[in-house]
Amino acid sequence: MRRTTGALFLFLFLPLVSLAGPRQKIKLHKAQFDLKDAPNVLLITFDTTRADHLSCYGYVRRTSPTVDNLAAHGVLFENAYTAIPLTGPSHISMMTSLYPQQHGADINGMHMSTHPRPVLLAQIFHRLGYKTAAFISAWPLKKGITGLGRGFNVYNEDFSYHYKVVNAARRGNEVGDASRRWLEKRGRSKFFLWVHYFDPHHPYDLHPEFANLPEEKNAKIFPVSASVDADRAAKIRAYDSEIAFDDNDLAKTLKLLDDLGVRDNTLIIFVADHGESLGDDGGIWGHGDHIFQPTVHIPMIFSYPKEIPQGGRIAANVSTVDILPTVLSYIGLNFKVPGQAGYSLKQMISSGGKEVTPEPTYFLTYAEPTLLPPQWMSMFWTWAETKRDPSLTGFVEGSVKVISSGNNDTLKVYRLSDAYSKEKLLPTNEVKVANLSGYKEDLDTWFKDTNRGLDPQGHLSKQDLEMLKSLGYASP
Ligand SMILES: [Zn+2]
Repeated sequence: MRRTTGALFLFLFLPLVSLAGPRQKIKLHKAQFDLKDAPNVLLITFDTTRADHLSCYGYVRRTSPTVDNLAAHGVLFENAYTAIPLTGPSHISMMTSLYPQQHGADINGMHMSTHPRPVLLAQIFHRLGYKTAAFISAWPLKKGITGLGRGFNVYNEDFSYHYKVVNAARRGNEVGDASRRWLEKRGRSKFFLWVHYFDPHHPYDLHPEFANLPEEKNAKIFPVSASVDADRAAKIRAYDSEIAFDDNDLAKTLKLLDDLGVRDNTLIIFVADHGESLGDDGGIWGHGDHIFQPTVHIPMIFSYPKEIPQGGRIAANVSTVDILPTVLSYIGLNFKVPGQAGYSLKQMISSGGKEVTPEPTYFLTYAEPTLLPPQWMSMFWTWAETKRDPSLTGFVEGSVKVISSGNNDTLKVYRLSDAYSKEKLLPTNEVKVANLSGYKEDLDTWFKDTNRGLDPQGHLSKQDLEMLKSLGYASP
């Protein structure tokens, strides 16, 4: 099964730097690390962006020329999965290499554990001497809500623009401009920059300039035709235009890296926090309360011209929890965060996908249709004591996908012909009883081993709750 470290305090190096405060002494051996030779790191996260709506993943509309180009100059993971299809918890999993049941934030609006506090990617960069900055576009990622601000010199969450819902989010060009101003002013320091784009999130606004995108010749994925379902087709066209809008802004940032002369020495990671159901699977819209392919299959691309072969595509199943360890290995730091759930993909990338250990890739969700807590709950948050079970857990292993609901009362086994395809329920006679009990045991063991009973704490003000609601997080 996917490896997790068994105890919280396993990996101690020489005591040169304390990362996580007095309760949790984590040491980095800085002598092992050479800042001069290390790359800059740019992490781009697109919210709500399913892999199969990007042209580099085979979609017919050219929604993502910039991302396509990035993939052509790097490596694209065809079968990447989010740990959880919810904005706050998913980003925390990326930044900690921990599953939600480890870091404690299992729905939007939850703060990560504070006792102990997970080590964040930005903290590591900060301690190594990088300048660190985050530019986020939506309320669920506010540092006061999530705890993601630790380690960032700048955590820009300016929502003074009126967009989508009043002051709860901002457009890609706003966040892009702000991040580029920071990049230009940062001087010659090494940087870790995270930019979060939110436009593809519901509601889908049609951007007229991206309403009629050019079509790819060798496409394999097509949206529903307007003649079949006009309403659904119109919504998907608007959704696609939101992706193209953010992709268009990202081009300016990549050009700036070229102009600054730092592109070749910058590791770029492009990823989505989760996908989106667009009327799939019997008419499901949105994300959060299920783990079918449209919401858990995400794009993931790494580009670093100095070290990553160009134009590679890797079919192995990988996870958002693998991002932190992969980044650390590319900057040359031999360090594991406490509880680390992912592993470095560097060797897999170097070998062109040949060196792959088949392991299940897990995901889950805790969301249910009416999960946003009533406002009075933020006064005395009690979920730490009443720790909940996830509503769904699942994994993919090779082409088999397993979804378990509740306490494994119903276990469904599917076959994926590829990550883009709909799950096909395997006929009962194709699922051996032995396999079924093995899948159940695997899921049980994984969850038990990672469910440490950390201590999530709520930090939601009345305003936070109103903003989350205004973004449609009645189902967070
Ligand atoms: Zn999201």
